[in-house]
Amino acid sequence: MKDSSSLEDIVSLCKRRGFIYQGSEVYGGLSGTWDYGPLGVQLKRNIMNLWWKKFVDERDDMYGVDAAILMNQKVWQASGHVDTFTDPLVECSECKGRFRADKLDDPNRCPTCGSESKFGEAKQFNMMFKTSVGPVADEGSVSYLRPETAQGIFTNYKNIVDSFYPDLPFGIAQIGKAFRNEISPRDFVFRSREFEQMEIEYFVHPDTWEQHFEHWLDQCKKFFEEIGLPAERIHELEVPENDRAHYSKRTVDFEFDYPIGREELMGLAYRTDFDLGNIQRASGKSMEYRIKGSNETVLPHVIEPSFGVERAIMAVLVSAYREDEQNGEKRVYLALPEHLAPAKYAVSPLLKNKPELVEKARKVYKDLSKKYPGRVMWDDNGNIGKRYRRQDEIGTPYCVVIDFDSLEDDSVTVRDRDTTEQKRIKITDLTDDLRFGEASI
Ligand code: ATP
Repeated sequence: MKDSSSLEDIVSLCKRRGFIYQGSEVYGGLSGTWDYGPLGVQLKRNIMNLWWKKFVDERDDMYGVDAAILMNQKVWQASGHVDTFTDPLVECSECKGRFRADKLDDPNRCPTCGSESKFGEAKQFNMMFKTSVGPVADEGSVSYLRPETAQGIFTNYKNIVDSFYPDLPFGIAQIGKAFRNEISPRDFVFRSREFEQMEIEYFVHPDTWEQHFEHWLDQCKKFFEEIGLPAERIHELEVPENDRAHYSKRTVDFEFDYPIGREELMGLAYRTDFDLGNIQRASGKSMEYRIKGSNETVLPHVIEPSFGVERAIMAVLVSAYREDEQNGEKRVYLALPEHLAPAKYAVSPLLKNKPELVEKARKVYKDLSKKYPGRVMWDDNGNIGKRYRRQDEIGTPYCVVIDFDSLEDDSVTVRDRDTTEQKRIKITDLTDDLRFGEASI
């Protein structure tokens, strides 16, 4: 059995089966953009919903927001993004190709034309997409597509304190799009120009940051476990001081063994009072928090777990990809955790030209769909073998087949994705705890 995949395996499965397509593909594509197909949307939402449930719904110290993508340009001036959100850019003097200087495999050779380096000095290239708001394009109308969701959280910190006056510590969470004009988008969705982030700013008393940092380290690891990432593929990198943002006193990057190598999956940073201090200075409004039951005020410090949805999806797909052999034929399947799989059940009539089978199968499909909305797929294309192969490839844990016996005894055949084992099960037992050996007849 093969349980590791190349990037090509993942890209081709995603396209073939309707998870992820190249953005604007019909017009030749737009570099660094990707479109999610029906199964990709479902997988992505399952990951985002799990995150939201765990970190917002199931906690009483967390507040959710959904801020505007376009923000006042002062946000990005105060945060330092206008001046310093840059990557080093070099240009090949032969072919005029432009590259990110710190990502060149060989700094002496152009990766496009292969000529000996005549790159010259690197220029600082700002990665924000600039636009203007309203009908007049001048200095005052400049805005940017946000390069991170975090600033939409910081700018709402005071609103949340005024509306809810939460106990300290508390957190504000947001899931949403972020845009970065990456010099060299690459490696499928790993480095995109438009992507999605799931971010939390957790506000703490400055004296307690260390214990909260440890708490969030632990929470991140638990989340990785819940999305099915094997612990041995995850590596904690304590970012050394000279590589950290100047305001951060501690940063841990979680790296993952992708087929492209060990790369950053997400980051956890202690940001001190850098952001609230900037807002306070630039807006002239106090961001101080008054400790309940006392007159003490503090400018809270911040712990930031910053997850990238695309990098999580890629890690989930890579971890789930399997190849084995069934009856002498190669089989590809995704051993996705049941709660992440786009479909939990596929329902089929054994033969699609037998109305009595179709009718019974439709009823099973309808009843299951009521119980698991959006998680049940109707599949009557091709023969049973083809259906199984298709469902294996998209990671559906259970295929339910209605045959002639089903008409007599109200039982169905249920096939397990990972073992390919088949069992007869009563229709009424098609429940959440469908584990073989328990509900079989
Ligand atoms: P890198 O060094 O890989 O460019 P970064 O350190 O700039 O990443 P952060 O600014 O810390 O990334 O962003 C937080 C998270 O957002 C990252 O850990 C990653 O999961 C995600 N992310 C950042 N840039 C991209 C991108 N271009 N495409 C997809 N996800 C991204």
